[in-house]
Amino acid sequence: MQTPSVHRAGIEVPPTAGLPLRWRDLLPGGPADLEAWLAAWLRVPALQLECSGTACLIVALRTLAARSPRKTVVLPAYTCPLVALAVHHCGLRMRLCDLAPDHFDFDPGALESACDDDTLAIVVTHLAGRVADVEFARRCAEKCGAALIEDAAQALGARRAGQSVGLDGDIGFFSLAAGKGLSIFEGGLLVARDPALRRALQATSDRVVGRHLGWELRRCLELMGYAALYGPRGMRLAYGRPQRAALRAGDPVRAAGDDFSFDIPVHRVGAWRRAVGAKAARRLPAFLDQATGRAAQRLARLQSLPGVTVLQDRPGEQGVWPFFMLVLPDADTRARALERLWGTGLGVGPLFVHTLPDYDYLRPIVPDAPLPHARDFAARTLSVTNSHWLDEELFGAVCHALESALR
Ligand SMILES: *Cc1c(COP(=O)(O)O)cnc(C)c1O
Repeated sequence: MQTPSVHRAGIEVPPTAGLPLRWRDLLPGGPADLEAWLAAWLRVPALQLECSGTACLIVALRTLAARSPRKTVVLPAYTCPLVALAVHHCGLRMRLCDLAPDHFDFDPGALESACDDDTLAIVVTHLAGRVADVEFARRCAEKCGAALIEDAAQALGARRAGQSVGLDGDIGFFSLAAGKGLSIFEGGLLVARDPALRRALQATSDRVVGRHLGWELRRCLELMGYAALYGPRGMRLAYGRPQRAALRAGDPVRAAGDDFSFDIPVHRVGAWRRAVGAKAARRLPAFLDQATGRAAQRLARLQSLPGVTVLQDRPGEQGVWPFFMLVLPDADTRARALERLWGTGLGVGPLFVHTLPDYDYLRPIVPDAPLPHARDFAARTLSVTNSHWLDEELFGAVCHALESALR
């Protein structure tokens, strides 16, 4: 199953282009201005640091729920399972909305009919670094009196019309989890345009997020491990080996890292991790620019694969490129491509294995619904890393394997 060149080199290319840490980042001292520095770079009014993107969503939902008797949150049917777990954590209901054909955006008709006078919020998602259609979701939210939350967990640095994503809705959040661009192993940033809402988000955080020495210590150790192992050799041990074990065991959900715990830690981020992030953040703009340059070169080759569509920016959008999202002609072709490439160390796999209702472990909390486009999207897409460790030769190997799956 392994592609010879990778096997020979004994490496593992990470599935996303995450910013590698340097040892200097871990040394004490230096500016501890993570949120302020990123806010200035993104030109957003302020950022609020939480312990994960999921924790950001929890703070956002709790803030909205405290102001409204409404109880339903509308989610895209194909997204990170943590989003559903956050809604459940807050004691709210979720309603899943189907996607537009061959896209991660909401299906407009489905979104309109998903909204009613119990809709507390709509979560619109900037998946894979691409910019979502926030305009339409905002009109739906306004019409039914709901708030709009922008899930930009995968899109730190993405812009539309020169402005950072996250400000068109009421609340936005970014993730600083391992492998998501800038990482402090687990972290998240909240953003909101309206100053009163920003104060309310901070007040919720002050009220519900406490210190937890055990969790923070664990995250500090994990961040050191991440700094040491995030690279083509370390990832083989930390990521590739357990992934291949899960694939051999016939457990794609675990192999994709989609098997999250219902127990979501919510705690303060400590000063050391914040300072590590602040130092690494200085390198993020140049790192994202390089990733964009690499993406521009590789898009043409991927797009020329017969029958393959690569999700790209629409006019006025400047997304980020942690990986490429490919839509293959049909589910069988996608299955063949995964058979050839998933688990070979080349950074190719499904982004999420299923739509939310199709994860067994989520069945108790996620309502089923007819979601033909989302299920089709889940079965036909795969992600190809845009990590700089995927050099030209390895990228060629990926394209070659895809071509043979497409034949
Ligand atoms: C990762 C992710 C989240 C959750 O962010 P964490 O920082 O991992 O908690 C939410 N939404 C999407 C689309 C994600 O990819």
